[in-house]
Amino acid sequence: MRAAPATQGRCITNAHLPHAVSRLRAARLARSVKPFLARGGSRVERCPGCRVPVSHCLCALRPSVPTRAGVCLLMTDIEPLKPSNTGWLIADMVADTFAFGWARTFVDPALLALLTDPQWQPYVVFPGEFVAPERVVTDVVPVEGKRPLFVLLDATWPEARKMFRKSPYLNHLPVLSLAPEQLSRYKLRRSRRDDHFCTSEVGALCLELAGESLAAQTLEAYLDVFTHHYLQAKNQLPVDLDDAAHQRLRGGGQSTP
Ligand SMILES: [Zn+2]
Repeated sequence: MRAAPATQGRCITNAHLPHAVSRLRAARLARSVKPFLARGGSRVERCPGCRVPVSHCLCALRPSVPTRAGVCLLMTDIEPLKPSNTGWLIADMVADTFAFGWARTFVDPALLALLTDPQWQPYVVFPGEFVAPERVVTDVVPVEGKRPLFVLLDATWPEARKMFRKSPYLNHLPVLSLAPEQLSRYKLRRSRRDDHFCTSEVGALCLELAGESLAAQTLEAYLDVFTHHYLQAKNQLPVDLDDAAHQRLRGGGQSTP
């Protein structure tokens, strides 16, 4: 079984309907021959809503920010099963999040329908240095009557390269390459030392480029809150609901003085 067709792919935030990544996870689990054991803590009961151990559930903190932009996640087979996958966080917040399992030999007709749906202007998000220069864009220019749809390859870097190379249906799409200045500004703001950005961080950068700053900042704060709950659960420590990240999330992603 694959993800539902694009027309049914809409997730209504906070409406307790399983979103696109959740449905992809359920479909993937249904196909499993043996149970998937999350690394470490496989015996811990995890909340189906946020994948964090129930003692550290953050479902009540799920943000709701309307966005014009949509996100299409192409996920490797195992990705929706990982409790640490952050594409899930995008699906929690961005109502029009679509998720598809990626395979070299199969493409979901619903994905092709989504990519040709005239309401969307799709961009494949990928580093420009690996792409023919004429395909590369670094800005999201509004297109009359269309909403931006960010296609994110939700995978490890070697897998993402392979997905990019072996998905001919992406070849005609513009490639949105996050500019080094934007990345370094982001790294500074987030005190990041390495070049690895997780999927929800890339999603936040895309929302920012689309002019949706509130959504971008909220998604960043939500990632920080998720990371805090996830790590505190792992270390069997209580959550701090008043730390900076929680405050930023409550403040709609804005930093509080
Ligand atoms: Zn939960």
